[in-house]
Formats: sequence, structure tokens, C-alpha cells
Amino acid sequence: MTRDSQYYIDLEERHGAHNYHPLPVVLEKGEGVYVWDVEGKKYYDFLSAYSAVNQGHSHPKIVKAMTDQAQTLSLTSRAFYNSSLGPYEEKVTKLFGYDKVLPMNSGAEAVETAVKIARKWAYEVKGIAENRAKIIVCENNFHGRTTTIVSFSNDPDANSNYGPFTPGFIRIPYNDAAALEEVLTADSSDIAAFLVEPIQGEAGVYVPDDGYLKKCADLCKNHNVLFIADEVQTGIARTGKLIACRHEDVQPDILVLGKALSGGMYPVSAALANDNIMGVIRPGQHGSTFGGNPLACAVAIAALDVVEEENLSEKADDLGKLFREEMQKIVDEFPLIAGIRGKGLLNAILINDTPESTTAWDLCLKLRDNGLLAKPTHGNIIRLAPPLVITEEQLMDCVGIIRKTVEEFKKN
Ligand SMILES: *Cc1c(COP(=O)(O)O)cnc(C)c1O
Repeated sequence: MTRDSQYYIDLEERHGAHNYHPLPVVLEKGEGVYVWDVEGKKYYDFLSAYSAVNQGHSHPKIVKAMTDQAQTLSLTSRAFYNSSLGPYEEKVTKLFGYDKVLPMNSGAEAVETAVKIARKWAYEVKGIAENRAKIIVCENNFHGRTTTIVSFSNDPDANSNYGPFTPGFIRIPYNDAAALEEVLTADSSDIAAFLVEPIQGEAGVYVPDDGYLKKCADLCKNHNVLFIADEVQTGIARTGKLIACRHEDVQPDILVLGKALSGGMYPVSAALANDNIMGVIRPGQHGSTFGGNPLACAVAIAALDVVEEENLSEKADDLGKLFREEMQKIVDEFPLIAGIRGKGLLNAILINDTPESTTAWDLCLKLRDNGLLAKPTHGNIIRLAPPLVITEEQLMDCVGIIRKTVEEFKKN
């Protein structure tokens, strides 16, 4: 019996919770920038699992590290030392420039870790009175799906009917350093931290003004408030630097990483900080059964090696500029596309229609038909984020596919 896409779609529909609305395509294989569906049709992957597969699908070096380690030792828990964790911790702290790392699994867990570290630091180092510490966050943030994280989201899909919510968060507009200054100047004595995405990915690839991150980091420093960067999506070379904060020479007090930290092979996340901050966490006070397991460590070491060896930051920077230049020509030519924005290879096109319209979704279906997979984020915005191992020739091929699709779309 041949099993076509519809078979698998129906299975998920019947047996899986309906917590996602996938584009109708069923993938069964990936290699580099390509994925294949169950009918054998080949596509460019322009989502990269929300920037988790920056190193490309099934990168041979990461696959080898994973399979070698899986055959040797996978999980010990942190009840014992293991011979992969130390080498990984040394690598990741040196690469990102911190004294210490706290290893977790999902991005949301690493954000939770940062929130807990910041609160503990607030009470034990800054001297905030019990239960009074507040963390400033931004409007339209996306930091994950736990109960505490959705407590400070303003996306009704993310938080409706999940209350009661965790208190202790203040929301201010994004890309508005004056708003941060206002809150801090009014009274920063109970403020533990400012948590921010250097580019808001899920919200629709909102790139803040040049200097915004630097201004915010300086304000935090002046008010003895921790600057926490959630680089789960923007980190690991995606925006043309190892982390997006480096575009403004900002070193966050707490850095949150996930997604491409493992090249998409395995859930690996981390919170990084220096000793004066990370020192507040002592044995038994935070952790995870799988956090820092040998398999995760071996995979993450290989994934970071690939980023360095293949110069993925420089590649993302160069190809990103070229991509936006080429896409701008399409923007200029076709009224359907209202604009292109982004940094490195984290970009989005804006569709000239209302957020409620199905135009972006329909365009993604046509892109799929023409061999390129992308998905709308927030209605009329389509994120375009290929694996960073893409070549210039492949990228230009993709620009051709997008142009052709927009052209055909206009005729319908
Ligand atoms: C994806 C993402 C998260 C959550 O990561 P999960 O692994 O899905 O829990 C957190 N922050 C940002 C900025 C993200 O893009």
C-alpha cells in the first residue's frame, strides 16, 4: 500500500492535539538546504525549523557526533559527572565569552532559567525585598510556552484561558529605549532585569533601530538591572554575527540560546552568565534530568564546530545583504509585496493585504508548489530563513522561485 501525504495528514488530524496549523506538506527526508516529501518532491527549506537547522539538515559532522555518542553513552543525569559535559561547557563559555553555562533542553526552559537566575540575583545580590522583584519585557514578545512565559505575553492565542498568571512582569513597547528609561528612572530599585529579543522573530522579524540594544544595555547597567538577551532564534550566526547583540558590541548579562545550538538534531538550550550572576545558583536549586546529557553535549560541540569551520556568521551576513537587494527588486516591481526586512539570513516579506486575509497563506501554498517551503507568521508576514549553509547559487535560485511565484500569483 502506498501511503501518500493525505494519509499522514489524516493520521495527525485524528490522533494529535490540534495545537499547530501546518502547511499541507509531509516531509520525510532532509539534506543541507533541501527537504523531500513522501511523494519524493524536493523543496528548499526556507523556515529551517524556526532557525534550529542553521547548519543544514542532517549535517554529516553532527550526525556522526550524535551516532557515535548514542552508541557510547546517552544519559547519566547530573547525579554523576560525565566526560562530555565539561568539554562542552568549556567550548560554549569560551565561544560566547562567559564564565559559566547552565545547560537545559528547550528554549522555553532556558528562558525560565534566565528568569529564575535574575530573580535570585535580585534578592541575593541587588538586595530587593522578598517577592518584589520585577522583570521588564517587551510588547509582542515571544519567549516560549510555559505558564510563566505566557504570563507576560500579549498574544491572546498564547495566553487566553491559561491564567492565573505569574506576576512580576512589566511590559513596555519594543524598540523604545525611552520607554525603558522612563520605567528605570521612575524607580529601578525593584527591577531585576530587562528581557528582550534582539530581533523579534515570531512577531514578524521586527528589526529594532540601530543602537537600540546598546542604549538598553547601557540603561540597565546604570540602574543595576540585568540585561537578558533571548537569542534562541537570532543566535548561532543567523543574523550575520554569532549572536545578534554583537552587531552593537553588546555582551548581555544573561544570554539565552537554543534551537541551532544543536543544529536542530536534539533539544539543547543554555543560559550563560558570569560568576557574579550565575553564582547565585547552588546545588539542588535548579536543573533538568536531560540538561547537559552526554548526547546533547556531543551534538552541541559538533554544531558549534560547524558554525566556526564553515564561517556561517560571515556567510549569513554576506548572503543576507545580497538576498535583501534582490528581494527589493521584487518589492519594487510587484504591488503584492509591500517590503522586505531583516538581518543576515533572518528576513521577512510583508504582503500587501490585511493580517486577516489569507493572501500570505495562499502565497506559501504556491511557493510550496514551486519547490520552496515558508510559512506566514502573524497573518500577512512571511518569514524567509534558509539554512545558513545555502550557497549563493542556491539562494539566487530561490529568489527566482519567489519571483516566479509572485508573478503567477498576480495573474490569478
Ligand atoms: C523558539 C523560541 C523560544 C522557545 O524555544 P522552544 O525550544 O520552542 O521552547 C524562545 N525564544 C525565542 C526568541 C524563540 O524563537
